[in-house]
Amino acid sequence: MQHGMLIDPYNRKITSLRISITSQCNLNCFYCHNEGQSRHESQMSAGHIANVIKTAAKLGVTKVKFSGGEPLMRQDFEDILAAMPKFRNVSATTNGILLLKRAATLKSAGLDRVNVSLDTMQPQTYARICQCSENIHRMVLEGIYSAIDAGLTPVKLNMVMLKGINEDELDDMISFARGFDGDVILQIIEPLDFGNYGGSVDMDAIEMDLESRASDVVERKMHRRKKYMVDGAEVEVVRPIDNSRFCANCNRIRLTANGNLKPCLLVNDNLVDISNADIHELETLFYKAVSLREPFYKG
Ligand code: SAM
Repeated sequence: MQHGMLIDPYNRKITSLRISITSQCNLNCFYCHNEGQSRHESQMSAGHIANVIKTAAKLGVTKVKFSGGEPLMRQDFEDILAAMPKFRNVSATTNGILLLKRAATLKSAGLDRVNVSLDTMQPQTYARICQCSENIHRMVLEGIYSAIDAGLTPVKLNMVMLKGINEDELDDMISFARGFDGDVILQIIEPLDFGNYGGSVDMDAIEMDLESRASDVVERKMHRRKKYMVDGAEVEVVRPIDNSRFCANCNRIRLTANGNLKPCLLVNDNLVDISNADIHELETLFYKAVSLREPFYKG
C-alpha cells in the first residue's frame, strides 16, 4: 500500500475533491454538463460520503466542493456536512432556489461558502436558459441574499457566457456583484459544449475588456484562473477549453453521485468504482484513480 499525498503521474498534487451528492436537479438548464454523469444515478449514503471525505483528508485533500444535480435536493445535506472532518475549505455549488430555507442550517452544519449559478439578471432570459418559470429568478436572488446573511461568503456567482443570450449582460452582473462590498464575486465561465448550442463566445475579447478596466489582476494557483478587480468588483474568469495551463494546474478529483471517482470531467472511460468500498479499501482506490489522471489538454 502507498502512503502520503495524492500525486498524479504528471506531478499534480491533488488537494481538491468535488463531490456530486445527487444527480437529481430541480432545473433543466439547456447547456448543463451535469458534471459528466447521467441524470438518474443512484446516490451514496451520508455515511459512505463521510468515509470518502475522511480518507481524502488523510491523503492531503484540503478542499471539498459539493455539487449535483442540485445538492440542496438532498434533505440530509446538513448531516453529510456535520459528519465531515474539519476542513479548511468547504463549499457547494447550487442553483440557489432552496437557499432561502437552508442557508442558515447549512452554515451551522459546517458549510463555509457557496457558488450560485446565475447567468442573467433578466427573469425572462433565466426562464429560457433554465427551462422554468420566470418567478424562479426572484427565488434565486432571495437565496443569494440569505446566503450572504448566513455568512456563506464570499458568494461566487457562476455566470456561463452564452452566445447571443447573456453576452450583453456582463456589466449588469458586475454592477450586481459590486453592490455587496466584497461579499459577492462574479465568476465568468466559458461554456463546455456538451450539446449542440450557441457557437463560441469570444472569451479573449471579454478578458481584454476586463483587463483594460481592471485596477489589479491576480492569477490563482488553481487552473491559473485570472481575477480582475473592476471598480471594486472582483471578476474571476474560468477558461477550461483548449487550455493546457488550466489542465497543468488542475488539482481536483471528482466523485460522481453513484460513487465513481472521476479523474477528469471530460473523460468517462477511466472511472474508479468506490460505491461498495469499505473505509480500508478507499485509500487504495484513491491512489488508483489518481494514477489514471492525465491532462485533457496537453501543452
Ligand atoms: N445545480 C448546481 C448548480 O447550479 O450550481 C450544481 C451542478 S451545476 C452542473 C455546477 C456548475 O456547472 C454550474 O455553475 C453550471 O453553471 C456549470 N455548468 C453546467 N454546464 C456547463 C457547461 N456546459 N459549461 C460550463 N459550465 C457549466
